Amino acid sequence: MSIAAEVNDTGVPRGSLAVWSLGQAGFVFKSSQGAVVYVDPYLGDACRDLYGLERLVEPPLAAAEVRADYVLATHNHADHLDPDALPEIARHNAAALLIGPSSCTATMREAGIPASQTYTLNHDDVLHSGHVRIHATYAHHVWGDPDDAPDAVGYVIDFDGLRVYVSGDSLYHERMEGIADLQPHLACICINGRFGNMSAAEAAHLATVLRAQTAVPTHYNMFANNLADPADFIGALQAEGGIVHPLVLTPGQRVFYPERDAS
Ligand SMILES: [Zn+2]
Repeated sequence: MSIAAEVNDTGVPRGSLAVWSLGQAGFVFKSSQGAVVYVDPYLGDACRDLYGLERLVEPPLAAAEVRADYVLATHNHADHLDPDALPEIARHNAAALLIGPSSCTATMREAGIPASQTYTLNHDDVLHSGHVRIHATYAHHVWGDPDDAPDAVGYVIDFDGLRVYVSGDSLYHERMEGIADLQPHLACICINGRFGNMSAAEAAHLATVLRAQTAVPTHYNMFANNLADPADFIGALQAEGGIVHPLVLTPGQRVFYPERDAS
């Protein structure tokens, strides 16, 4: 069952944000102004084709169904910059901007996406557009070949005063502690502890250092070689003092942030 109609039809009250998990590191955010932002939508099977990694979770919608204003890629790996989904999304959303660091926008253009639809944000760059402000933040995603994703970023997206941090893929790095200055309310952080990413304990520490109100664990249980238990993240947040509330999302599930009843 596709979430496409639900994303279109959901009205978001002032002061809140609708959030859907897409699985892996993917999210949809819809603001009270109606802006729709996709981050790292992995909706195809590129990782099966490239690496033999079968997806364990069906995509909650098809790339052709996506209606977006902004599509953000955190780095140039297929589970984040989906080489099948993004050109399809670009074709159906002529007014959408597809955003990423230099290596990502280069890949987008190589995939046939018109340059006019791409916008490069390297870390510390900011795009202010309408009611949305997108700030690319430092990420430290190193595994295997050190040149694999040299310009990986995270993002802090400000939706008219409500701010979301998405880490993308990253190890813990001191430099990310400065993201606290951007005052994210909601933090979506990778917890899988392998392939160049933070462990549940490191993710919980970062969420606490950033003084987020709520933290969503990401980047697990899409592939058989990358399973994790979000209970470890919940426990780690407790061990950090229980200041940050955990929010575990199932792919396709809608929540409102701050939490409220659906309308
Ligand atoms: Zn990844």
